[in-house]
Amino acid sequence: MTDHGNGEAVDFRRWLHQHAVWTPDVIQDIQLKAELGRYRYRGMSTTRPVPNMDDLTFLPCTLSRVPLEGYRERCVTETVLGTRFAERPVRLKIPICVVGMSFGALSRNAKAGIGLGATRAGTSTTTGDGGMHPLERENSEHLIYQICPSHYGNSAHDMASADAVEIVVGQGAKPGTGGVLLGAKVSDEVARMRDLPLGVDQRSPVRHPDFIGPADLRLKIEQIREATDWQIPVYVKIGAARTRDDVKLAAKAGADVIVIDGMEGGSAATPDILYDHTGIPTMAAICEARRALEDLGLLGEVQIVLQGGIKNGADVAKALALGADAVGVGSAAMIALGCNSARYIEDYHALGTEPGHCAHCHTGQCPVGITTQDERLIERLPVEVAAERVENFLNALTLECQMFARACGKQDVHDLEPEDLRALTLEASMITGIPLVGTDAAFGAPWAHRMHNDGAGHLPTSDVEGGH
Ligand code: SF4
Repeated sequence: MTDHGNGEAVDFRRWLHQHAVWTPDVIQDIQLKAELGRYRYRGMSTTRPVPNMDDLTFLPCTLSRVPLEGYRERCVTETVLGTRFAERPVRLKIPICVVGMSFGALSRNAKAGIGLGATRAGTSTTTGDGGMHPLERENSEHLIYQICPSHYGNSAHDMASADAVEIVVGQGAKPGTGGVLLGAKVSDEVARMRDLPLGVDQRSPVRHPDFIGPADLRLKIEQIREATDWQIPVYVKIGAARTRDDVKLAAKAGADVIVIDGMEGGSAATPDILYDHTGIPTMAAICEARRALEDLGLLGEVQIVLQGGIKNGADVAKALALGADAVGVGSAAMIALGCNSARYIEDYHALGTEPGHCAHCHTGQCPVGITTQDERLIERLPVEVAAERVENFLNALTLECQMFARACGKQDVHDLEPEDLRALTLEASMITGIPLVGTDAAFGAPWAHRMHNDGAGHLPTSDVEGGH
């Protein structure tokens, strides 16, 4: 503050320029890189706003439709995945699964607690890039076994004990790149399971050693089917990028279930710059995936599990309406466990962060004991506590999803459809083909075409297909 000579105090700070390019964040990023001499790592997910499910709204029943009674009438949530070829599809009570997160990235208690919570909620959880921890198998009724490019910890015995196999081709947070586990998290147990040296940074490969393209993928899927006697489904997980092509290739290669991981997907350690500049948003990915299966005539035969930033029951219901058969939660499950909760504040401060802003999963110093291999920190998350929180969260998401379905007059959450939605933004309308609120105009053609021709008379017969 300065006196201008006329007795008036002037705050010169308000005259400072706010640069559009050289924001304080950009300046800090450059200066940190200048110190480090390398790119930055962090956990969690993209920080940039992208078109997402919040850009859609439901049209519940009014005079033209009859809603279901929320507290009296049944609304089915049972979900079956892998009905195409497997003798034993995965039968879940709810349309929400837990995504693959490795033992190594997460503590054994977190993995076991997630498994137990998922089991109690009636759903599946998934291993990760580090093999199947015995405690996770023990606590998980439905356990999906990931085969990642690294093959860390993979064994024929573990695969035989799984309820489905998921071939990981890519991850939404970083499609086109492999995983990272910094040495601080490579404990004795993690090193033993991965057959790697103790305390050394691990950078997982991005390409599978035994297949590269779709032709090889077909052989790989057949190999897994033979090894598991055609009993369990084979999922293929892709990071959302060229989703329409990738879904077609995976479906043609014989996948029972295709897992799509959108740009908002999380990771425990990824180069910071990849989060914000690779892949496509989850909402766009499901639209492309559904169109791909429609093109092939395989909609309903091959199931889609949608992941990447699913945070509440509205996202679940919207994902189902857009064409997903189930969703996967990862970051949200971690937050349910207590990630970023305001406990052990001094430990957040030691990491240079605050609860609500933490993304330090890569350091192994997780204040709440989720993404750590430090025994002192692991004890902060007992398995039973973790299980209860995950179960509660999954139940809450299911109830919320049912609420939207009932309000839209559906007796099964899987009956939600694009016609139940309207777009709040032009972008969302373009991406999904769902009409913009207050107009008859659907700016992207695919859904509009389907709704216009489904005989249900859901939309005015104006020139919707023209895509104004
Ligand atoms: S609280 Fe733990 S799990 Fe959450 S962002 Fe921080 S380090 Fe990661």
